[in-house]
Amino acid sequence: PWEKFTMAPPDPIIGLTEAYLKDDFPDKVNVGVGAYRDDSGKPFVLPVVRDAEREINLENLDHEYSGIAGCPSFVDHALKFVYGENSAPLKEKRIAGVQTLSGTGGLRVFGEVLNRFGHKHIYVPNPTWGNHIPIFTNAGLEVRKYRYYDNESCSLDFSNLIDDIKAMPEGSCILLHACAHNPTGMDPTLEQWKEISNVAMEKNLLPFFDSAYQGFASGDARKDAAAVRMFVEDGHKIAVVQSFSKNFGLYGQRVGALSVVADTADESQRVVSQLKVHIRPNYSNPPRHGARIVSKILACPEKTNDFVDQCMGMANRIDGMRTTLRKALEDLGSSRSWDHITKQIGMFAYSGMSKDEVIALREKHHIYCTLDGRISMAGVTSNNVEYIARAIYDVTDK
Ligand code: PMP
Repeated sequence: PWEKFTMAPPDPIIGLTEAYLKDDFPDKVNVGVGAYRDDSGKPFVLPVVRDAEREINLENLDHEYSGIAGCPSFVDHALKFVYGENSAPLKEKRIAGVQTLSGTGGLRVFGEVLNRFGHKHIYVPNPTWGNHIPIFTNAGLEVRKYRYYDNESCSLDFSNLIDDIKAMPEGSCILLHACAHNPTGMDPTLEQWKEISNVAMEKNLLPFFDSAYQGFASGDARKDAAAVRMFVEDGHKIAVVQSFSKNFGLYGQRVGALSVVADTADESQRVVSQLKVHIRPNYSNPPRHGARIVSKILACPEKTNDFVDQCMGMANRIDGMRTTLRKALEDLGSSRSWDHITKQIGMFAYSGMSKDEVIALREKHHIYCTLDGRISMAGVTSNNVEYIARAIYDVTDK
């Protein structure tokens, strides 16, 4: 039965880790996947996550199924986290949501539901996180791109972004990165968000926020939801998908939420009922452990403060590495400008390296990053930053 099954190409991002693991060069570097590493290059478990896990273990909880929509108290905390405790529509129950299989799962469920309710296409920024395109294509949507980034000036291509939004058909769904845009690390300013909000309102668009880095933009997870909250204040009926992979360091636990802002509580419940219709024959219900950890932390003000401090610690380490990497490249006498490295925010440096340069970096220097030149700053450490700078200099300047 398997003759027709040809070997599929490796995933462009996860495949990098596979190649990295096979490489036996001692100083190899993995700056492909956006997973945080501490300054010695090790995976990092937030101490507050360890605290929460210890408490959970003592509770002798069972392993029964969650409901289709996951753990209700987790969803409550997740929604307060992104919309704000004092959000009026949240209090009025006009916002409702479900637990999802992290960000990816929420994106897919929402894509399918959009398709079911008459959307034929979705707009995503160009560039965007590589997986957005297959996620929405597999959900049955045509993926269209709007201009976002100017490669020449390494900055936001704002006037074209606005023009492209103005040209979208009425009622289209537009995916927006809530903060710390992946891969460019360039977010609109608050004034620019306002303008996006205004033109999106004129075209009656459905803004769909992907919030995968709440905490990695300003360093304070409580502040990073400014764009989402502005759109809600402006009266948009939005959808939001949240990932707790990066900010809580819970990658493998698959913790996420998908929510919508509706006109009435009845309407938000109707949408949730449709989300559940899609979840049930897909994976039935989400896993419990990670959601318990996040709930435990967000239910306790002290733990929440610890979380904010520890998340800020991760963001600050990355920021420090941006400065060090840029300076090292400048000290080497690079003829290119690298100031975008410190202007960008979040986990990634969108380096501007060409595909050939990225391949040379991999083949000559055993440094693994995606072909678009995106470097995960989360994998850059005091020990490897000089090596990375010299290698980048070698492939870009010689
Ligand atoms: N959206 C964006 C923009 C991302 O960068 C990522 C992770 N790389 C995700 C969603 C999904 O991650 P996860 O499924 O682990 O939540």
